[in-house]
Amino acid sequence: MGEVTRIPMTIGGQAVDAGSALDVVNPATEAVWAAAPAASAGDVDHAFATAAEAQVAWAHDDAARRKALRAIVDVLAQNMPELAALLTAECGKTLHDSELEIQGTAAWFAYFADLEVAWREVIDAGSVTGVRRPLGVVAAITPWNFPLALASWKLAPALRAGNTVVLKPSPYTPMATLRLGQLLADVLPAGVLNVISGGDDVGIEMTLHPGAAKVSFTGSVEAGKAVAAAVAPDLKRLTLELGGNDPAIVLDDADPLATAQGLFNGGFYNNGQVCGAVKRVYVPESLYPAVAGELARIADSKVVGDGTDPASELGPVQNAAQFDRVQRLLNAALADGAKAVAGGQRVGDRGYFLRPTVLTEVHAGQAIVEEEQFGPVLPLVPYTDVADALRQANDTKFGLGASVWGANRGRLEEVALGIEAGTVWFNNHAVNNGPHVPFGGRKWSGIGIENGLEGLNSFTHLQVLYGDLAD
Ligand code: NAD
Repeated sequence: MGEVTRIPMTIGGQAVDAGSALDVVNPATEAVWAAAPAASAGDVDHAFATAAEAQVAWAHDDAARRKALRAIVDVLAQNMPELAALLTAECGKTLHDSELEIQGTAAWFAYFADLEVAWREVIDAGSVTGVRRPLGVVAAITPWNFPLALASWKLAPALRAGNTVVLKPSPYTPMATLRLGQLLADVLPAGVLNVISGGDDVGIEMTLHPGAAKVSFTGSVEAGKAVAAAVAPDLKRLTLELGGNDPAIVLDDADPLATAQGLFNGGFYNNGQVCGAVKRVYVPESLYPAVAGELARIADSKVVGDGTDPASELGPVQNAAQFDRVQRLLNAALADGAKAVAGGQRVGDRGYFLRPTVLTEVHAGQAIVEEEQFGPVLPLVPYTDVADALRQANDTKFGLGASVWGANRGRLEEVALGIEAGTVWFNNHAVNNGPHVPFGGRKWSGIGIENGLEGLNSFTHLQVLYGDLAD
């Protein structure tokens, strides 16, 4: 076997290796292709110390911050092929999707660079002014499905608001983020962005670290709850973007063919490994055969393969544990009477490949309906009464996204307003209009909002000044 790829951490603008390393597996080949530093407790301390040192000067000059964020956009464009190759090797997604992710990442930095922000607001003219102040050092922790894009949701607003950051990617997908840290050392003052890598233990140390003023976390509900508990004794500020089990409710006046296409796009993008993907579909009995048939046809037409092969449309599931979990949920449903009208089986015996799978004859109570599968298996639940479908859609602790499909705007809105979810799409699902649109979950799907001005404000505190200020 050839040499594995190694990329150091970036702490205080310097390359830092760790005493030990984590293996990184390519999900298309199951080969260990890279090694990421496993940060020690000393490395974590070092990262927070250098971030704190850099923060005062960084907070001072908004024009410099805007310029730096703009420079990040250029760095991403200039290094697109290398970063895309790293993303594909670690995530499994196609090179095309990796490029889209990097373009999205750049769009987030561009938006927050260009955003006109009123850091001061007059509350009572001549006597009371509100000033948006940075929090200090932000601990940012990301999952494995969109390592760079989800990092940018935190970095761009946190940095623009004058905070400095310690960022840790998932141990499954650390390489593109580590490389980004290296590249950005050329355009950011030392210590403004520190990228460290390691297992969940490093994430835990970050959430407990006294140097972190805020934790911005994206990941599973289970880990999110642990993070909330970890920050409580210190009352750190907290944003949680967690899992979802998004329902799609198809109404009886929906166009079955267009709906099936939209459901496929919203359910299988990135192999369903999207927090806000369609994860269960409620279909009226009258449309059930047409929607199921068309979804199966589309699923069967997809080419599943290594993300580096230009013919591939869907790559592998990202990691072995997730692959096992999705297969376990699938097999339990099949054993309980569900039918795979498309897919249902693994592809080959190397790499975590699963055909996009459409399940019919499923019902409430099955794990594939109740849990977040986070993979390429979509259950279709038949219904006769829309009020009952809505009740089932809400009968969950999740509340990230949802969608309603049909022809009548008034009905779509009425159903949408009845769904307990942070985002509801009409005749679409999981599309993202960009960094200006707020995003956040209800119930166990999250606390707080990312993106837009509200997202930026979550990286500030509002200081109220009493006095007759100069401007
Ligand atoms: P995960 O929770 O296992 O890990 C996410 C990150 O948290 C990793 O970097 C991990 O090392 C770290 N971590 C794990 N336990 C921790 C702890 N106790 N304290 C601090 N850090 C800890 O999640 P995952 O499996 O990488 O990602 C998949 C999950 O993320 C899915 O549930 C998905 O829905 C969710 N997700 C949510 C959003 C959103 O915006 N709402 C976006 C993408 C993914």
